[in-house]
Amino acid sequence: MDEFATEREQRRYRWVSAQRRRARRMAAFVAVAAVCVIGLAAGLFGVLSHETDKGTSGMALPGNALFAEPGSSFRLMGSVEQSLALNSRYVEEGTNKAEGEVRVEGTVDTARPGTYQLTYTHGSQTLTRRVQVLPGPPVVMHLKGSQHTFVREGQPYIESGCQVTDRTEGDLGATVEVQGSVDTSVPGVYEVLYRAVNSQGVQCNKVRTVEVVPAGEFVAEEGGIPVLMYHYVYTAGGYPVDDPYVSNYILDTDLEGHLQHLVDRGSYYPSYQELAAYVEGLIDLPKNSIVLTFDDGEPGFLASGIPLLEKYQVPATSFIIASDADAQDKVRDYASEYITFQSHSYAMHQGGGSVGHGGIISALSADEIVEDLQRAQSVLGSSEAFAYPFGDHTETAHEAVRRAGILCGFTTEYGAVQRGDDAARLPRVRVNGDVGLNAFIAAIS
Ligand SMILES: [Zn+2]
Repeated sequence: MDEFATEREQRRYRWVSAQRRRARRMAAFVAVAAVCVIGLAAGLFGVLSHETDKGTSGMALPGNALFAEPGSSFRLMGSVEQSLALNSRYVEEGTNKAEGEVRVEGTVDTARPGTYQLTYTHGSQTLTRRVQVLPGPPVVMHLKGSQHTFVREGQPYIESGCQVTDRTEGDLGATVEVQGSVDTSVPGVYEVLYRAVNSQGVQCNKVRTVEVVPAGEFVAEEGGIPVLMYHYVYTAGGYPVDDPYVSNYILDTDLEGHLQHLVDRGSYYPSYQELAAYVEGLIDLPKNSIVLTFDDGEPGFLASGIPLLEKYQVPATSFIIASDADAQDKVRDYASEYITFQSHSYAMHQGGGSVGHGGIISALSADEIVEDLQRAQSVLGSSEAFAYPFGDHTETAHEAVRRAGILCGFTTEYGAVQRGDDAARLPRVRVNGDVGLNAFIAAIS
C-alpha cells in the first residue's frame, strides 16, 4: 500500500498488519475448513459443482462468513463500503487470501475527503472496496497524553486510552476497541490502534506509537512535572479591562509563544494515567514532561486557544463546569484531537463554604461531593482529572475525589508535581497572562 507518506508510517502499518494477518490466517483456516466440511456434505448430496465459477464482487459477504460457496471464496475482510472520519487511520483488512497472492491497487488519502476505490485481484477474480473519507470531522478522537508515548525499558506501559466524540451523537467511548501490545522488555517502536464507530457506521481510527527506550538511554525528568494552569484567552482588541481577574487572561499571540517554546525544547505531555503512575513511583517520565490545563471552559479559550493547540500539536485539558447549560455542547462542538475535557465539578463552582476562597465544596459531605463528581463525569465522558473550584479543598474532598475514581485532583497551590505527592491534591503552576515569555520559561525550568 502506498497511502503512507513515509517509510516510518509504513513500518508502523506493517506492525499492525502483522497482528491482523495472524488473526486473518486463523479466520481463513477456519473458513477453508468449513468449506471442506460443506464440500463433503454437498458431495454426499451430489450438488458440489453447482455455480462454482460465480464471481464474488457483488456478493458482499460479511467479514467472517464461513459458508462461502466453493469457487467463489475470494472475498474481502471487513466492510466492502467504508466511511472514515477525516484524518483517521485507514486500516487495510485485506482479503481471505494470503497477502502475496493478491494484487491491491488504489490508495486512500484520509487527509482528503472523497471516495476512494481499492481493487483486489486474485487470479482472474477482482473485488472492489469503496472507502469514503468524509469532509468534516463528524467523529473526533483524542489520544490521551502524547500520541508518541515513551516508556523506559522494563517499566510498565500505561494505557492512557482515548476520548472519542461524535458531533451529534456525543461520547462514543463505549465503542472503542484497543488493539496491539507493547513488550517493554524489548526496546523498539510499537503501535496501539484505537478504533471507534458511530451508529451510522462511520469509523474513526487512530494509532499511538509507543517507543520503548533502552534503560540506559532514557533521560528522565528529575525536577518534577509542572502542570500549567491557564484560564482565558483573548485576541487583539478584546482586552478584558473590566475584569478584576485580568491576569487570568492571556493574549492569543502570547500563548502561541509559549507553545512554540514547548515544541522547540522537545516537550512530552503525559496523560493523567501516566502522571498518577509517576506520583506512585511506578514509572519515570521523559525530561521536559509538562501538562497544560485551562480552567472554566471559557469561550475565548475554546474559540482561540484550541486552534493554537492544534496548530502546535500540543495536547491540553479543558476543565469544564459540567452544570453549565452549554457544557455538553462545548464537549461536542469543540472536540479536538488535542483536547481532553475534564471535570471542574458539576455544580461546586459557587460560593457557600468557609475554606479558602469560600467555595461550596467545604460545606458538603463526602457523599455529596462524590455525587457531584459522578454527575460531571457523565456529562463529560471522562473521569481522570478534577480541578477543585477556586482551588478550595479539604480532607473530605480528597476522600471524595478518590472514591469517585479520579486519578489526579488539582489545587491552585503553586509547584511542580513530585514523586510521592498525594494524587488527590496535586499543585499547579499558575501562568499569568501578563508575565512575558522569559518568566514563563523560568517558571517551567
Ligand atoms: Zn474555575
